[in-house]
Amino acid sequence: MTSRGACVPHFVRGVTEVMLRRVTPAPSPCGAKRLAGGPDTQFRWIVESGFLPSRAGALRGMTGQGKPQKDGEREHKRSPCVGLPLSLDHDQEKLVTAINQVVEHFRTHFSSTPEGVWEAPGRVNLMGEHTDYNHGLVLPIALPQRTYAAVRRRDDSLVRLMSVGMPPAQAIPITDIAPGSPKGWERYPAGVIWAFANHGYADQVTGIDAVFTSEVPVGAGLSSSAAIEGAMAVALSDLWDLGLTKDDQGRATLANLAQSAENIIAQAPTGGMDQAACLRSREGHALYLDCADQSIRHIPFRLDDTGLALLVIDTRATHAHSTGEYGHRRSDCQEACAILGIDTLREISVDDLDGVLKRLPNDRLRRRVRHIVSETHRVRLSAQAMEAGDFVELGKLFVDSHASMRDDYEISCPELDVAVIASLECGALGARMTGGGFGGSAIALVYRQSLREMMEWIGSAFDQKGFATPDFLVAEAGRKAGRVAY
Ligand code: ADP
Ligand code: MG
Repeated sequence: MTSRGACVPHFVRGVTEVMLRRVTPAPSPCGAKRLAGGPDTQFRWIVESGFLPSRAGALRGMTGQGKPQKDGEREHKRSPCVGLPLSLDHDQEKLVTAINQVVEHFRTHFSSTPEGVWEAPGRVNLMGEHTDYNHGLVLPIALPQRTYAAVRRRDDSLVRLMSVGMPPAQAIPITDIAPGSPKGWERYPAGVIWAFANHGYADQVTGIDAVFTSEVPVGAGLSSSAAIEGAMAVALSDLWDLGLTKDDQGRATLANLAQSAENIIAQAPTGGMDQAACLRSREGHALYLDCADQSIRHIPFRLDDTGLALLVIDTRATHAHSTGEYGHRRSDCQEACAILGIDTLREISVDDLDGVLKRLPNDRLRRRVRHIVSETHRVRLSAQAMEAGDFVELGKLFVDSHASMRDDYEISCPELDVAVIASLECGALGARMTGGGFGGSAIALVYRQSLREMMEWIGSAFDQKGFATPDFLVAEAGRKAGRVAY
């Protein structure tokens, strides 16, 4: 990150006046404050240096060359230096470009100015697949890739939503938001408004205009849905002055609201991992989340000094959370619980697993339960390996996890299996599919110096099978959702 003391204004791309500057600590929990005037006066943006994205080598098809992040709590720290950077580094430029883009679209679309811009990350899960709705453990990281939301309150109760590159959404009164309505992409952010209105915040709810733009690949298993929900949730909390972004307890509430938007309004029966990763993570750390009581621990996850990198392989095979197989897996788990006389599969310890499996009537249920119980155990072991810096062990756990998802839980697909096998053939320490499955992405723990070779190898393996060319990104543990500009 650039660190310059001279006070030289830096204006970016004329239309929206964006000023990046280092500032003294602001009272805002989310790292930005208004410089001058209200939303109707000349518009200015201020972005705190401590709140800028990590220097992630996270562009598709590129090797990551991240510089070490010394401060895992950077998102909470503010530079004491007041001044303006002379030039923007790559990530600052990307952030400013994203802010400009979303603000410009807002102005064009709604002929007014947003009250602020908020961002929220996608996520990639390191371990613990389908364990969240079984009250088990998960271990995701927030990605540096973000979804941005420019938002403004309205005087009436209309909701108007727009997303760059997505079909236009109809304006809808808040009272018309209900399960199955609206039907398009906008059900995710509209669902968040509904969740606030129906879970204790009805008095604060106003109409909303919002524009979104996203760097998170949509439908790639990297949780673009939680990113758009998370961006909406932090925006509404700030605009309605609910204070829920200030501490982890408030953020846990936001994650629950976002999850109910996804479950009830978008009607996707997912667990709460994605929203927690988006709203409660810490930069440079994986989020060890116990879905039984929603308690968290932050496990350091920085690969910079290890010579390793986390390669995300987006297979571009489609997956379907809201229909079909995902729901079937949930039903299998519920059926097993009913037979075993327990509320959740979390109640089964790994030591008791063999005995429990004997009480199940068929092989399908036995395999489902074995995956969930062993996968939760692998989250514990993964966290221990990461804390010990034992990435060889972490790689082995990736491989075990993939086998469990492929054979026992049956949520892999040919593209994911090829991505994993090709990664291992090319020297990865470990690889596994990640996310809900049936397509989407795999992750591989690889030597940084062999990244390019690895991507070529995986690409040619896909080519040989006649699969679509995969996309790649190199993941680092990014920061949680918050406000980036007024
Ligand atoms: P994933 O969360 O893995 O990307 P999902 O199927 O859960 O995949 O969610 C993808 C859906 O979320 C999209 O089809 C769209 O409806 C919605 N969505 C996500 N990001 C955006 C965005 N930036 N703009 C509009 N809709 C989005
Ligand atoms: Mg999703």
